[in-house]
Amino acid sequence: MTALPLVFDAPRRGKPPRHLADLTRDEARAAVAELGQPAFRADQLARHFYRGVTDPAQMTDLPAAVRETLTGALLPGLLTPVRHQAADGGRTRKTLWRLHDGALVESVLMRYPDRATVCISSQAGCGMACPFCATGQGGLTRNLSAAEIIGQAVAAAAAMANGEIPGGPGRLSNVVFMGMGEPLANYARVRKTLDALVTPAPHGLGLSQRSITVSTVGVVPAIRRLTEEGLNATLAVSLHAPDDELRDTLVPINTRWKVGEVVAAADAYAERTGRRYSVEYALIRDVNDQPERADLLGRLLARRRAHVNLIPLNPTPGSPWDASPLPAQREFVARLRAAGVPTTVRDTRGQDIDGACGQLAAADLRPRPEARPERARGEEDGVLLGVPSVAVPTPSLEPPVELGAEADE
Ligand code: SAH
Repeated sequence: MTALPLVFDAPRRGKPPRHLADLTRDEARAAVAELGQPAFRADQLARHFYRGVTDPAQMTDLPAAVRETLTGALLPGLLTPVRHQAADGGRTRKTLWRLHDGALVESVLMRYPDRATVCISSQAGCGMACPFCATGQGGLTRNLSAAEIIGQAVAAAAAMANGEIPGGPGRLSNVVFMGMGEPLANYARVRKTLDALVTPAPHGLGLSQRSITVSTVGVVPAIRRLTEEGLNATLAVSLHAPDDELRDTLVPINTRWKVGEVVAAADAYAERTGRRYSVEYALIRDVNDQPERADLLGRLLARRRAHVNLIPLNPTPGSPWDASPLPAQREFVARLRAAGVPTTVRDTRGQDIDGACGQLAAADLRPRPEARPERARGEEDGVLLGVPSVAVPTPSLEPPVELGAEADE
């Protein structure tokens, strides 16, 4: 495996067309006025957008003569669904989106008995180069605009509201920035997205800050900024190793900001919000799953406001690594708990559709020799709906933790 360089500055590409969700409310009202329409039309457009209405014909509160003009100017279609893939009897659904310039991203909607979580992408690709992550291995294409990120959450909220997911109409309750990309490397757009997610309807999705999780490799200055700007989203830090020597190789940003600096920044955030942060730790067989490392992690996190979320490694193409065996996982959990660190094992939902943590590659249009037959069939059709779930045993020790449940800490 060749080491990839860390990339912070996203390549400059053509900007997506202007969209209402990129604008402040005043800017949107001004844009509508420029088109010779009363400013309140901006609010009508916002109501449609956040309810997931995209067809101008359905916007019956707008005069028919201006529907096309207004939607064309302020609600351009930024995300075109290429296909959906379903697992878990339809309760997990991964969507591949094509953006205006052909870039591809994925989002995953997961319905649980008491919540519905969407995992969204903040960048097309990722520049953080983590060697065990499919997205990281693909490199960075570009940053997403706020409207492109928000649009993924809006689509998920609409899918829930419209009863597209088995279980009847429901409500999107959680958003996790655990799809493609490093959210804190696209700070300004992610910040705007957080605002839109928590702004009450009709100008946003009306979620609570704590039901939103921002997951980061540990961009320390950006964690400090979240702290200073008074945000209350749940913070998740992808640690994956307690010691700098190993973390330098697993999470290359560690060569800039060390373990000690990352946990100190997360501590400060937790101090301000009064809530624990989540430490993500992918358990990789014989790489970071030794009992000594569990002890080291336990000593690092004991007496901090942290909770450990262990993720048995999800396999990615070309990687020589695999998940820790069950006994090693058990031992790891036991040692962390003995050190007084609250620890859970994360659900591996969506693994069979390459929709689990670290598997999002939006690589579906490239040849994939390891593709399973049912996927290959779907590719010919161009659309894959309702793929029967392949039973993948979840190697957990107790009921695994739902994605988004970080917020319950
Ligand atoms: N860039 C952000 C968010 C994206 S990934 C971050 O790194 O935090 C969400 C989580 O999945 C991260 O903790 C990431 O390290 C983890 N992950 C990546 N690849 C994985 C894999 N193959 N198996 C399990 N978890 C993985």
